[in-house]
Amino acid sequence: MKQYKMLVAGELVAGPSSIDVINPANEEVLAQCPVADQALLDKTVEAAQQAFTSWRKTSFTERGELLKKLTAALEQRAEEFARLLTQEQGKPLAQARDEVMFAQIFANYFADQSIEAKVLSEDDSQRIEMHRQPLGVVAGICPWNFPLLITLYKIAPAIMAGNTVIIKPAPTTPLSSLLLGEIITDIFPAGVINILCDNNDLGAAISTHPGIAKVSFTGSTPTGKKIMASAASTLKRLTLELGGNDAAIVLDDVDPGQVAEGIFGAAFLNSGQVCIALKRLYVHDSIYDALCENIATLAKQAVVGNGLEEGVQFGPVQNRMQFDKVCGYIENAKAHGRIIAGGEIPQQPGFCIPLTVVCDIEDGTAVVDEEPFGPILPIVRYSDLDDVIDRANSSAFGLGGSVWSSNLDRASEVAARIDSGTVWVNHHCAFGPNIPFAPAKESGIGVEWGEEGFHEFTAMKVVNISKAYSNPVH
Ligand code: NAD
Repeated sequence: MKQYKMLVAGELVAGPSSIDVINPANEEVLAQCPVADQALLDKTVEAAQQAFTSWRKTSFTERGELLKKLTAALEQRAEEFARLLTQEQGKPLAQARDEVMFAQIFANYFADQSIEAKVLSEDDSQRIEMHRQPLGVVAGICPWNFPLLITLYKIAPAIMAGNTVIIKPAPTTPLSSLLLGEIITDIFPAGVINILCDNNDLGAAISTHPGIAKVSFTGSTPTGKKIMASAASTLKRLTLELGGNDAAIVLDDVDPGQVAEGIFGAAFLNSGQVCIALKRLYVHDSIYDALCENIATLAKQAVVGNGLEEGVQFGPVQNRMQFDKVCGYIENAKAHGRIIAGGEIPQQPGFCIPLTVVCDIEDGTAVVDEEPFGPILPIVRYSDLDDVIDRANSSAFGLGGSVWSSNLDRASEVAARIDSGTVWVNHHCAFGPNIPFAPAKESGIGVEWGEEGFHEFTAMKVVNISKAYSNPVH
């Protein structure tokens, strides 16, 4: 079994203890993951602070070149990364390959970015400039649904802005980040990028650490709230990308046969374990039965299993805790609605759950109101458009949402009334490195990606110059 190591101050280190990493497809131990303690965290922060003093002086071009070397090295070992991702996360190999590709696309996008100082105003008496400076040491705390992609889309903007970074993967999916660390050691100066693992117990120490300037967090809303509370003592900069319960509203003018596949894909991608997955589907009464049937047919045809096996389209849920949680939502769905696909959990090792569709269910039930984060889609009937917009908006979450209609003007009017950071029309879950991703309400704070997301890894600094004593002639 391969020995994975953490990356601290340019060295691959074992750490004081280790935990098992479980393959969710069969519950077998895949590898041992080293875990850090407070002393190793302190050492890592010190190394990252030290590296910051010289890294901040490098140019955008130098940083971009190193980042592109990293993505080129990742490309060379893409298949190894994809297989490891499937084994630790569960997603089918084709989707793991896509994740490796997207990780490179995001990193390469940021590798091409730079920030120039702006002159806000200038006349004979003064010049006012606005600069953006790096913050220092940035910690990236990651979830388990897209382990490699999220690790890289935190590293890339952080270091391109001149910061040094410490990544902490989720304890159930640390291996692809640790493998990335092996490549990083050969490319980046010591301490610029560090990777530390934990057993779900180092997050609070990271978010209170006085040597860390910013936490970029992706994970659940309850954990985000804890981070916000513990970061208060040092007034850290925070970007919190949290949970969602994206509603999709299907208007009465669509052809159910046309939209079913797009809706199905957005709901069940990565077995529903996507923050911006379509999680509540509101369908107009006039097409409700037809669309339910179309989606149920697709769900029944889907092949769920071990992602390394040929023909498997959907992998298991990533870990035991999530599996139990999703099974609970299925029970809730059975009690309050009508299951039209899936719903029966096979008695076998691994965390596979058949794609489950529930209809004739109402708002106010757990499976509709909460975030199951698994392969279950509730379909709710509506007849009044104003009323359904209010229902879609009556959630504490506000990550994404979508409107489906054959009339783009109508769809745009509805989209304008949806309270979420992103609203898609006639698709859902589309994203890219140049598109800012900004949650609303309890789905988070701040922005990721695009220029706005890049700027979140900097501090604004104004230099206000009086020309009163300057002598233009030397
Ligand atoms: P989680 O909140 O349980 O864990 C995320 C990370 O936080 C892990 O690395 C974990 O070890 C760490 N952590 C745990 N306790 C902590 C603490 N007290 N302080 C700091 N860190 C702590 O989330 P998860 O179960 O890994 O991921 C699923 C959730 O993530 C879902 O709610 C999903 O919607 C959300 N998510 C959001 C986005 C987004 O961009 N908005 C993307 C992916 C996932």
